[in-house]
Amino acid sequence: MTLPGLTEHFSTDEKCRELLERLRWPNDPECPRCKTFDVVRLETNTKLLWCRECEYQFTVTAGTVFNDSHLPLSIWFLAALLLCEAKKGMSAHQLKRTIWGLHKGSYKTAWYLCHRIRAAMKEVERPMLDGTVEVDETFVGGKRRGLGKSGAMENKEIVLGIRQRGGELRLFHASDVTSGELAKYIKENVSADVDVIVTDEWPAYPKAMIESGIHGSKHETIRHRDRVYVRGDVHTNTIESAFSLLKRGIVGTWHKISAKHLPAYLDEMTFRFNRRKNANLFLDTLRHMVTAPVLTFEKLTASENF
Ligand SMILES: [Zn+2]
Repeated sequence: MTLPGLTEHFSTDEKCRELLERLRWPNDPECPRCKTFDVVRLETNTKLLWCRECEYQFTVTAGTVFNDSHLPLSIWFLAALLLCEAKKGMSAHQLKRTIWGLHKGSYKTAWYLCHRIRAAMKEVERPMLDGTVEVDETFVGGKRRGLGKSGAMENKEIVLGIRQRGGELRLFHASDVTSGELAKYIKENVSADVDVIVTDEWPAYPKAMIESGIHGSKHETIRHRDRVYVRGDVHTNTIESAFSLLKRGIVGTWHKISAKHLPAYLDEMTFRFNRRKNANLFLDTLRHMVTAPVLTFEKLTASENF
C-alpha cells in the first residue's frame, strides 16, 4: 500500500469500515459475545450490527485495539501505514507531526495510537523454527555514566535473538543470560529436529542445549573472541544483521525505550522484519489490528508516570 493508494481508497470512515469487516469476518459477521452468526445490520445506522441471540449491539471495531477510539478510521489507517512501512519504526513524535502537524494533535494521543497498533503486531502463532538456527544475545538501552564497563552494563536490557536462516526472526527481552533463561526460549521456539544451532562462545549455551533437549552434536560455536566470525556455514551473521537494524531503530527512532515497553517494540520490529518481502504487509497489519484484544490506556500506563 502506498500513501496515494491509501488516500484514494480509504478516505472515508465507511470505506475503512468495509475493509475491516472483510478482514475480521471473511464470511459473515459473528457476534463477539456469544459467537453466533445470527446477526443483522441496523437499517438506521449501517455500521451497527445486532445479535439476535444475545441482543448485543456492536461494530466491527468492538473488542479490538480500536475500541473506544474517537479518532477517524482514516487516521488509524494512515498511522498503521506509517508504522508498518518504516523499516526502522517511527517515533510517536514523528507520527504526530506527520498526521497533525506541529501545533495540532497531542503527543499523548499519538503515543497511545502507536502503542495500540504495536500491540496488534504481537504474533499469536509462533511455529517452531528448524533448519539452521542462529541464537545470539545483545544489549540495548541504558546510559553510560562514566562508571566503567560494568556500570554501563547495569542499565542495559538483554535482547535474545533467534533466527532461522532463510526463515523467521524472533526477539525476546531476556532477564539474564543464564542457561535456564536461554533454554526457556530455545525450547519454546526451536524444534528438537533442528539441523544446527549456531551460537557464540558464551559458556551457558552448551548447558542450555542440554536443558532444551537439543543434542550436543547439533550445536556449533563461533569464537568471536578469536576474531573468527565466519567458519563456512558456522556464523551468526544473519541474526547480527537483525540486531543492527534493531539498534538503529532504538537509537534513531525511539530514542528512549523503557524496559516495560521493550517487548512491545521487539514485537513490532519482528512483525515488520518477517514481512519485509510481503506485498500484503499493510493488510496483514490491519487484520491483526481488527482481531487483537483491547489495550486500555490504564493498562498501558500502569505503574508509570505519564
Ligand atoms: Zn451474541
